[in-house]
Amino acid sequence: NIILGGFYTEGVGVVDSLRAGTLMREKGQAAGALHVAPKTEVLGIDVEAGRVRRVRTTDGDIDTETVAITCGVWSPRVARMAGTQIPLTPAVHQMIDIGPVPRFRGAKSDIEHPIVRDMDTNMYERQAGGDLEIGSYAHKPILYDPEDLPPVEQAALSPTEFPFTQADFEEQMQHALELMPEIVGDENVGVKYAINGILSLTPDGMPVLGESPDVKGLWAAAAVWVKEGPGTGKAVAEWMVHGESEIDLHSSDIARFHEHQKTRVHVRA
Ligand SMILES: Cc1cc2nc3c(=O)[nH]c(=O)nc-3n(C[C@H](O)[C@H](O)[C@H](O)COP(=O)(O)OP(=O)(O)OC[C@H]3O[C@@H](n4cnc5c(N)ncnc54)[C@H](O)[C@@H]3O)c2cc1C
Repeated sequence: NIILGGFYTEGVGVVDSLRAGTLMREKGQAAGALHVAPKTEVLGIDVEAGRVRRVRTTDGDIDTETVAITCGVWSPRVARMAGTQIPLTPAVHQMIDIGPVPRFRGAKSDIEHPIVRDMDTNMYERQAGGDLEIGSYAHKPILYDPEDLPPVEQAALSPTEFPFTQADFEEQMQHALELMPEIVGDENVGVKYAINGILSLTPDGMPVLGESPDVKGLWAAAAVWVKEGPGTGKAVAEWMVHGESEIDLHSSDIARFHEHQKTRVHVRA
């Protein structure tokens, strides 16, 4: 009797983020609106008279007066190249995948069963094929600096996947066991996959969007999740082209931070 109340919404969805990104890229390229430079690293951003002038890359320099930093957890590092800040820290999000779950036998896709968001413990449980994914936002904070993240070729898994630290997830497993004893307590259900994934955390939990108050022409679209990616892209594009977006983005505006809130100490606190 630990569930005292809840609500059910049908509005949940699954996105294959790789496929979605590919489709959008292909559409942009087909429209002649997008040039992609794969395996090209930004090494520097030149600012003159307070305005972006040039991007320096491993494939040469690009003269431009408009740059959008959409580099996820690396965004602070790229912003520093232009002498400014994007206040976020790479932070661990722990997630494990357990299975095979007898109740999900025969499942053909994900979330055929509802995603459970346990708001008291700040966790989620979701059916993924024949398995159950358990994630938490309540484990102890494990923070990194963008400089700590390994280059792609040196990363064991991916640059944003670190080995799972079991000890940090003990309490969360207890919560999951309490909520779903039939699945989590089943001795035949084992851990198939467990990661310390890295995501972007800002001081107030909101994204960092808009033109830098310090450097003209330098835009940010960081600390954005897959789920709000398309909407954010549309809104920021409107803002860049028309000077304002259809929806009010002020709570995500990069200009909302006071000087002290942009410091590493404040962001990590
Ligand atoms: C375990 C886990 C589970 C998650 N689950 C969900 C979920 O269920 N739903 C959801 O919506 N989100 C989820 N997220 C969050 C989501 O994955 C991220 O928010 C999202 O991938 C960020 O996308 P992005 O494009 O901003 O950054 P990224 O995908 O990190 O892309 C940034 C890109 O910038 C490039 N880059 C960095 N520096 C440079 C440079 N100097 N020059 C050139 N390129 C550079 C990198 O190579 C990279 O390709 C999860 C995250 C984790 C860790």
